[in-house]
Formats: sequence, structure tokens, C-alpha cells
Amino acid sequence: MMKKIKRCLEDQIEQPDKKSPETSMTSPTEPEEIIKVKLPEPENLSHQRVLIFDIDGTVLNRGEFLSDKGKERFLEIFEFFKNKDFHIVFITGNDFKVQQRRVLKPIIDRNLAPAITCFSDGGSRLFEYDGKNNYIEKEQYSNQNEIKEKQVEFIEDKFKAVFEQFIGVEKHQELNEPDIWEINRVLNPNGKINFLDLIVHPLNYTFYERNFDKLRSIIDDIISEEDIKSRYEIMLKYYINNAMVLRLIGPYADKDAEIVRVRLNGIFTHWKDFKDAARPEIERRGGDFCSQIAIKPFKRDNLRKEFLERIRGQLQAPIEGKNFSIQLGGKTTIDIQLKGVDKRKAIIQLITGDRKFDPQKMIYFGDEFDPFGNDNVVAMMEDHLRPARIIHVGNKEDTPDFIANQKCFFVDGNGPAGTLNYLEFLKCELSEC
Ligand SMILES: [Mg+2]
Repeated sequence: MMKKIKRCLEDQIEQPDKKSPETSMTSPTEPEEIIKVKLPEPENLSHQRVLIFDIDGTVLNRGEFLSDKGKERFLEIFEFFKNKDFHIVFITGNDFKVQQRRVLKPIIDRNLAPAITCFSDGGSRLFEYDGKNNYIEKEQYSNQNEIKEKQVEFIEDKFKAVFEQFIGVEKHQELNEPDIWEINRVLNPNGKINFLDLIVHPLNYTFYERNFDKLRSIIDDIISEEDIKSRYEIMLKYYINNAMVLRLIGPYADKDAEIVRVRLNGIFTHWKDFKDAARPEIERRGGDFCSQIAIKPFKRDNLRKEFLERIRGQLQAPIEGKNFSIQLGGKTTIDIQLKGVDKRKAIIQLITGDRKFDPQKMIYFGDEFDPFGNDNVVAMMEDHLRPARIIHVGNKEDTPDFIANQKCFFVDGNGPAGTLNYLEFLKCELSEC
């Protein structure tokens, strides 16, 4: 019952211009707090080839870090392309703090940062490396993308209204079932579980009252599945948006066998205390101001698309004089930003901003080109702005024909493994294999 988290190319790549080797490497340290300072005047880099990557589903799967053991090949191949004078750009829907831990820290530690630029929060914020082990925000770009407080409040109110209406529809009754996922498992040296964190997604404030018996039986199932019977403590750990996290700790001695049931009863008897944990909330993303609103209504992807269409319908008219775009982000989120603030804008910034890269020397990697996906806008760019090649590593069945048939569009599938395959292919094109 428990759902565990658990084509050959027609054009040729030009050889790089000869450049002096990198000289200003500094020793890696932990990235510091975001510091906003003006960057030195950059050079015109239109000669330089650029590899642009989406992150989720393209370079990393859910919960992965670039520093993970299995991801070493990515760092090696990024290093190869850096040494070949490529510039590398990440454009992710993730907020910057997540991006910093998952991607930028390993990049800095590997001394790859001078060759890497990062757009976070759905392309609404731009970060450049300062040469001193920090990525710093480029305010000139990010400040254009601010969502004002009144606009945030309006969007939140609409989200709550659509949410309540959505879960009340009969065909969505499945959303009233307990939704429990394992998010963290830590083992002792003897291989026995030290603790297990479960996330419970409720949907409205009466959730705990209506679902107590089901919740208890599911958690009992998990406990017996893990062969720990009832010898684990269950405790309330912390709240996150629209969810509660329970930690199962153990094992305990036989005499504590009833502790699970006692603690569960203790928590859910007072379910009213937890109604706030079920309150639908938006997540404000950005730095000093909000530049992206993330909402995470459900874990279930089919319903997420249906929900997206409903909230799009509610946010069509301008809010405080501005239009907004609503897209799927990552695997669980719906992202809301000022219209035009997306991956397309990030790529236009690369072309028209300080760096002045040439779109004919860009290769873009992404996995969500369906009409709801956040890579779709890249494939839809005007011919003179769109990256010369687009590598699709996601589900090709979801891709509209008019995109799939574009000359620049190459479908691999296979997610991060597909990205790695294509990079190896590119390396061969550069006569290195
Ligand atoms: Mg993606």
C-alpha cells in the first residue's frame, strides 16, 4: 500500500579557438551566503560554444546531487568541455538554495565554476561565478522579475479556492486517501534501520479526522514490511507545505511494543492541532523579493496537469497590470512567474546580455517539451534565437509533432543517462575518442 520514494547529426561542431589555459583557480570551500555585487565588464563571448542544461530529469533525478558517486561521469565530462572552451549554463526550476547544494557546490569543488553560469527559480534569477568560490546574483536581470506582494496574495487566494473546489469533485475522491511516501531512511552500521521519515500529504483540515484509521493501518503495514513489528517510535518531526513528516525510530525492546499505536493515537486524537499542516500553501521563491511562486498540490502527475489547467483559467486576466505564466516545474510542482520570465528569457539574456553568446553555437538539453513542460518555450523560440540543437531526453510521446519534427530537435529519451550519452557522442565529434 505504501508508495515508496523510492540521430546522426547533419551539422558539424566547429573546433574551438585557441585560448590561454585557465590560470585563476582558487581552492574550493563551502559556498557562502548570496552576495550581491556588480560584476566586472565581461568580454563578448560570441565565439564560444555553449551547453545549456535543464537539471531535473536531464542531469539529475529527484533527490540526487552532482556530488553523488554515480554522477562523477557528469563532472568529468563537464571538465572536458570546459577545457575545450565551452561555456556551460544551467537553467533550472529549482530555487537557488536547492541548486546551490545539489549542483553549484560540487561544481565549485571541482574548479569548474569559471565556465559555468546558473539561472534558478524557473529562469527568474541569474547567478555568475565571482572567482572567489561564490556565485553572486546579477541584480540587473533578477530585479526585472519581481512579483509584487499584492500579486502574490491574489495568486494564493485563487490557489486555495481552486484547491478546495478540485478536491471536492467526485472523480477526485482518490485525493482523500492517505498519501504516504518515504523520504529518508538512515541505517545503523549493523544494517538495521536507525530511523525512517514518512511524509503524509493531507488535503484539507478534516483529513486527519477522516483518515485516522487508514493512516494507522498503513503505518502498521510499513512497520511489519520492515520487519520491525511495533517496536518503533513514531513522532511528529516537522511541518512542510501541505504535509506532515513522521519519523519512525527504533528498534526498541519488546516491552515498548505498543509504543507506535500509543504515539499515533496521541497525535491523531488531537488532529485539530494539525489542521494547519493540511492548509494549502504557496511557496514563495526568490532572494530579497519573490520572483517565482511554486505550488505543490498533489504527488499525482495526471491530476497535477488537470489542476494546472484550472488554475491557468483563474489567472488569465492581468493581476495588478501584469500577466503571469503557469507551467509544470520538476516532478511535483506548478510554477507561476511573470509572463515571459522563463527559460526563453534566460536564453535571450545569454544572447543579448553582457556575454552575447551566439544561439547557433548553443546546444540545449531538456526533458519536458510537452505543452505543460518548462522546456517547451525553448523549442518554441523564433528560429534566429533558438539554440542550434535541442536534445530531448524525456518522454518523446508527450512531445507535439510540430516540435518533434523540427530540424534542430533530437530525441534520445533515457533522462540523465541520455544526456550523458549525447555528451559522449559530442566528445567523439570533437575527435577525442
Ligand atoms: Mg526537467
